[in-house]
Amino acid sequence: TNASATTQGNSTTESGEGEGDKVTTVEEASLLRKLIHSKLVSTKADLEVLQKDPNSPLYSVKSFEALNLKKEILDGIYAMHYNTPSKIQETALPTLLADPPVNMIAQSQSGTGKTAAFCVTMLSRVNTNNPWPQCLCLAPTYELALQIGENVEQMGKFMKDLKITYAVRGEKLNRGEKLDAHLIIGTPGTTYDWALKFRFFDLKKICVFVLDEADVMIATQGHQDQSIRIQRGLKRDCQMLLFSATYDDTVMKFAQAVIPNNPVVIKLRREEQSLDNIKQFYIEASDLEGKFQALSNIYGSISIGQSMIFCATRKTASWLAEKMNKDGHAVALLSGELAIEQRAAIINRFKDGKEKVLVTTNVTARGIDVEQVTVVVNFDLPLTPDFKPDFETYLHRIGRTGRFGKNGIAINFIDGSRTYNTMKLIEKHFGRKVMKLDADDMEEIE
Ligand code: ADP
Repeated sequence: TNASATTQGNSTTESGEGEGDKVTTVEEASLLRKLIHSKLVSTKADLEVLQKDPNSPLYSVKSFEALNLKKEILDGIYAMHYNTPSKIQETALPTLLADPPVNMIAQSQSGTGKTAAFCVTMLSRVNTNNPWPQCLCLAPTYELALQIGENVEQMGKFMKDLKITYAVRGEKLNRGEKLDAHLIIGTPGTTYDWALKFRFFDLKKICVFVLDEADVMIATQGHQDQSIRIQRGLKRDCQMLLFSATYDDTVMKFAQAVIPNNPVVIKLRREEQSLDNIKQFYIEASDLEGKFQALSNIYGSISIGQSMIFCATRKTASWLAEKMNKDGHAVALLSGELAIEQRAAIINRFKDGKEKVLVTTNVTARGIDVEQVTVVVNFDLPLTPDFKPDFETYLHRIGRTGRFGKNGIAINFIDGSRTYNTMKLIEKHFGRKVMKLDADDMEEIE
């Protein structure tokens, strides 16, 4: 299980749940996480080194100065307000920057600083006096490529003459043209055409090859193949790097195929979530109005920091958001028909505290962490596509990692024997009691 629990395969087809919700592909989920991770996701988990480079000992740095970076790059890093390396950067960067270059496979959840790490690497290895592409970074989609590009451009803004080009759909070059950009960021399809069909640049002159979001990459038919063919065209001593937010057999198989020569393999485990410190309740209410009444009582009687309310359908979610707004609560609605950028904007507003309540559907909010939420309401319990209790989603919504050891409250609505049974299965699965809450008497909750 992982941060991108959204889907397996190319796209999610959900049960009747988020009816009408647009299908969220793994690519979209990945972009959404990028857009809402404006800050580093901190972690206490230890970095695991699964495979070392026999020739160079692994060590870690506690500062960017210790890396002996070119001054322009260090200035760029500080201008981005990165003060110290993140957990993965501490260990990855010395190896990434070592000479002779070492290949690497690195996995850590989204938001932990992988992109920044390979941007530093590419910028460090580029020689802007040479007017040809020297670093090549592959990303699964147009949008993700642009996101990476934004990062490199910011970090490299003090390197004068640095030229970056995007090998993505819509970019047109003339036959016979030779690229003079130093860095290419692209999707596998266009990059493949540019390198191998039209020979706009020479793969043999690439000295850093980065394959980002490998787990997302392999979800798309063809990307795996194209990436491998591009990789086959590189020179033997090109530095090859692969990054992924998740780590499983399919990702590793692909990684091993595309990153040769005993790469260093590092992995940052995602912190376990648990239901310690979480008080779980259930409330019985037979219909929608009843649920709404109970919810009003809760919001009226206890002071709640920020909360999220999960509904099974878009219809319920928008109905509820409207009713709560009428009641004077500042409620935001995160709905599945919105474009990814709009969803990111809503989540970011909520993260900034502009609204205290976020109403969403079970499907839309899958995989999103909002750390400061203290109350989670399951207006409808999460179910798997075959209508079994979705334990993983339940835990992900409500659980905390050690670092957010704060107390939290979960409130589950039970509207019949079926949901009651679901709740009982959840109770049994986690071995934790879910206490009954009387909708007219909220004392126990505090
Ligand atoms: P990933 O590629 O693992 O998803 P990113 O490199 O995109 O992670 O970093 C996540 C967020 O943290 C971004 O907003 C990025 O600007 C920021 N960030 C990255 N490295 C650092 C650092 N050393 N210090 C502070 N912020 C950082």
